[in-house]
Amino acid sequence: MANSERSNPGIRRLLGEVALINRSIADYKPHLPLTVLAFGPQSLTPALQRRLKAEGFDVKVIESISHLLVHKDNNGCALLVHLDHMNDKQRHRMQQLAAEEGQLPVIAISSDTSLQERLVAIRMGAVAFNTTPVNDAQVVADIKALTERYQRDPYQILIIEDQTSVAGFYAATLEDAGFQATVISQPLIELMPYLHNHTPDLILLDLYMPAINGQELAGVIRQQENLISVPIVFLSNEMSPEVQMKAMCTGGDVFLSKPVRPADLLFAVESRVRRGRAVRNLVTCDPLTSVLNRREVLRRLNEEVARCQRYGSRLCIAVLDLDRFKQINDRFGHSSGDRVIKHFAISLVNGLRDGDIVGRLGGEEFLVLMPETRTAIANTAMQRVAEEIRQSPPESQLAYTFSGGLVQCLPGNRGDDLLEQADALMYRAKSEGRDRIVCSGDHDSA
Ligand code: GH3
Ligand code: MG
Ligand code: MG
Ligand code: MG
Repeated sequence: MANSERSNPGIRRLLGEVALINRSIADYKPHLPLTVLAFGPQSLTPALQRRLKAEGFDVKVIESISHLLVHKDNNGCALLVHLDHMNDKQRHRMQQLAAEEGQLPVIAISSDTSLQERLVAIRMGAVAFNTTPVNDAQVVADIKALTERYQRDPYQILIIEDQTSVAGFYAATLEDAGFQATVISQPLIELMPYLHNHTPDLILLDLYMPAINGQELAGVIRQQENLISVPIVFLSNEMSPEVQMKAMCTGGDVFLSKPVRPADLLFAVESRVRRGRAVRNLVTCDPLTSVLNRREVLRRLNEEVARCQRYGSRLCIAVLDLDRFKQINDRFGHSSGDRVIKHFAISLVNGLRDGDIVGRLGGEEFLVLMPETRTAIANTAMQRVAEEIRQSPPESQLAYTFSGGLVQCLPGNRGDDLLEQADALMYRAKSEGRDRIVCSGDHDSA
């Protein structure tokens, strides 16, 4: 949200009304990096600090609670606290502070997993509770979940409402609060094309529209595998409990009566959207590497292939497998093997374009989808990743290489065909000596 909008007293008041869950970033300055504050040096290991910096966050350690106030306006987005290293006075002070408006969301760390300790954290404004030993990737994911509304992956809200003026009002309210809103006023025509290309984080659904009712539409939406967990908020003048109950039975999460007050709208959206995305991430992400899991990357493969066939756009896919990985496991142990797998996933994500899609098929085998990319460019990108891994392995003794098969989607291809072709080329790369990419067409003239 721009500063001018933030300083708008109406919006400030609205956001103030939902302060508890909207306690995000009081005065966000888009041109400055977001800052993670850590209370005391014990709450931040050098490794976690490096990870946060790699994700583009600024990190500052503060020694006392009064320093927290000094940093309040510096794009702070989260406060890390290690409860093991806080005395009673500090804990109490932090809880007092949390009750005030505009405090930073807290990421708590503790070795004590009791309910009492978790309650202490909640009263400090904790949105996440990490037990020791801390999983750094999880802490980074927690902070990213808090900030993505402001960063490159803002929450997408789909508004399905036949009255365009009403829809426009909802959209403006949500956009002012940092969400991205899309309006569909003729769902019979517009909805399916939209859903083919987007997965919204939450759907606002008018119950009464000409030609189709919202309840039926909710049924259709819930039939899409990737939308099973997306929260649906129904909107209508209908007050009858029977109608509300029926609407909820088809998969609605909550019912808002029109006219909807902006504060109620924001509350309904805020309180569901983050959890909705967290659930989706659980379902779609590989826990070791945080890239897409097998099911989701294969779903995306079919989606991208369908798009490619429908619009004649380009698509390259690559199946990649680490070389002699068993030896790494055997020599250095399974956890070093896991480190290498993670390193590879991160190298792919960092080395490829934003629009490229990375997923783990299983073990040390990955699938990369590169939309709008021709084979030569895709191959260059893969060579770049290979070079980067050669230059900076996770550890000098954990140097590793990978082999891959790269194919381009042609008219008539299906997802399974492409996968089979890429897999066969990957095995060819192995038999030709590993540490290489074999592209479709490479050997056609031979
Ligand atoms: P090649 O170059 O022919 O691919 O040799 P390779 O040793 O990599 O052979 P292969 O791909 O068949 O072996 C994969 C090994 O990866 C087998 C399995 O023990 C190990 N592995 C599978 N999943 C995981 C995992 O999640 N973590 C770790 N550390 N190892 C795994
Ligand atoms: Mg209507
Ligand atoms: Mg292998
Ligand atoms: Mg393998």
